[in-house]
Amino acid sequence: MTVTELVSYEEALATYEPVMGLEVHVELGTKTKMFCGCSTELGAEPNSQTCPTCLGMPGSLPVVNAVGVESAVKIGLALHCEIAEWCRFARKNYFYPDMPKNFQTSQYDEPIAFNGYLDVQLEDGEVFRVEIERAHMEEDTGKSTHVGGATGRIHGASHSLLDYNRAGIPLIEIVTKPITGAGERAPEVAKAYVAELRELIKALGVSEARMEMGQMRCDVNLSLMPKGAEKFGTRSETKNVNSLRSVERAARFEIQRHAAVLSSGGTILQETRHFHEEDGSTTSGRIKEEAEDYRYFPEPDLVPVAPSREWVEELRATLPELPRVRRNRLREEWGVSEHDMQSILNAGAVDLIVATIEAGADAASARKWWMGELARRANEAGTDLAALEITPGQVARVCALVAEGSLNDKLARQVIEGVLAGEGDPDEVVDKRGLKVVSDEGALGTAVDEAIAANAAVADKIRAGKVAAAGALVGAVMKATRGQADAARVRELILEKLGVEG
Ligand code: ADP
Ligand code: MG
Ligand code: ZN
Repeated sequence: MTVTELVSYEEALATYEPVMGLEVHVELGTKTKMFCGCSTELGAEPNSQTCPTCLGMPGSLPVVNAVGVESAVKIGLALHCEIAEWCRFARKNYFYPDMPKNFQTSQYDEPIAFNGYLDVQLEDGEVFRVEIERAHMEEDTGKSTHVGGATGRIHGASHSLLDYNRAGIPLIEIVTKPITGAGERAPEVAKAYVAELRELIKALGVSEARMEMGQMRCDVNLSLMPKGAEKFGTRSETKNVNSLRSVERAARFEIQRHAAVLSSGGTILQETRHFHEEDGSTTSGRIKEEAEDYRYFPEPDLVPVAPSREWVEELRATLPELPRVRRNRLREEWGVSEHDMQSILNAGAVDLIVATIEAGADAASARKWWMGELARRANEAGTDLAALEITPGQVARVCALVAEGSLNDKLARQVIEGVLAGEGDPDEVVDKRGLKVVSDEGALGTAVDEAIAANAAVADKIRAGKVAAAGALVGAVMKATRGQADAARVRELILEKLGVEG
């Protein structure tokens, strides 16, 4: 199916009600794998972080990673879930070369956490509750690289390479209940949910949840039913969508595709689909297997997990403020609009601004520099704000120099440029580049006298009462001092010398 055959989004929503289900996999940031002591460090030589257990050798025995369980409980609690008093792992049996055990150790009908919810805030400020079915523990597979074909897929490849370093890294899979009632905002809800979940996971400190690194990936299940119907339609499952924008686009595309198929009398197959970044489309993957196909059975080599109620309560007490609640609190403290807060969030600037304020800056200045000059520079360099070579402490120092009058905004921008270029701390850049507001009244006075003399006609106008003309003289002085004067003070001096009231 090509894009041109899609039904328009508005038309699709006029006839159908979308139902969505989101499955998010989060790779935990534990030092070792879920069932063995192998390192999880990224970027190692292929197959250098493996052992008999994660390679599935006969006779090897798994042991549960306690930090993995703790992270799962924390995630469950933060999602307002009930925590199982007793649960087991299960074997999900299937063959794929990247899974040397021939089964994935997962959880099936006994997840560690279940029945929760996450409130997400939409762009207009409205809060939408997404209900959580369960969060369960499992392990990642290895990674296959198909070589020799044009697409990187197995079809057309001459051979495949297998790296088992990732096999056995702990994953938490978080599954929503069917999301209904979002209507035309379903794609926005999907994006906001994944964004909120990512913030939550980061705040819990259980994973960096970097989607671009595959540490968090989302499967988007979607179906349509005629408006007013109660029985859900057949769903498609778009796998491994790995950016917020893609989650939204995938949901949107599937709504349009389903509508096209259904409106022309066709049937939707329950299948997995691949998302394509280039044009935002999805294409057919494989027909969906049923749970029975996996022959799930309880894992006999692992003891059941039975988190004591005391321990669960201890963990509950360590939970941080929810990201949405924190954002709303900061928004009020900083006195910014919903819309500005959204931009700050999208720019990844919340924590940077908080840290800059902690380092002594006032909220307005911290926000101004991060969202202005620094955002512009990050944009130019094609990087994130956090990746810029400047610390919140350094930004706070720039704010302080401006506040005390040693720098004006123009000079401050040059200081920032120097810090980013590796010339040192703001004070060092000021010294090395000789960037200081000329506050020596004598030197300023001379520059003002010179400007008045060189622009006699303008000076006459000002004397005659046309105060607005002072701007031209201020400009001349700023130019003569290479921008290193306090413009407000220069203006005062000019008016003083010309005997006019400001
Ligand atoms: P599977 O393992 O087959 O992917 P899961 O139960 O793990 O099944 O996940 C299915 C996801 O799709 C869940 O989030 C669920 O709420 C959602 N879902 C179930 N039925 C539908 C449907 N008809 N339309 C849209 N989403 C659905
Ligand atoms: Mg699934
Ligand atoms: Zn191992």
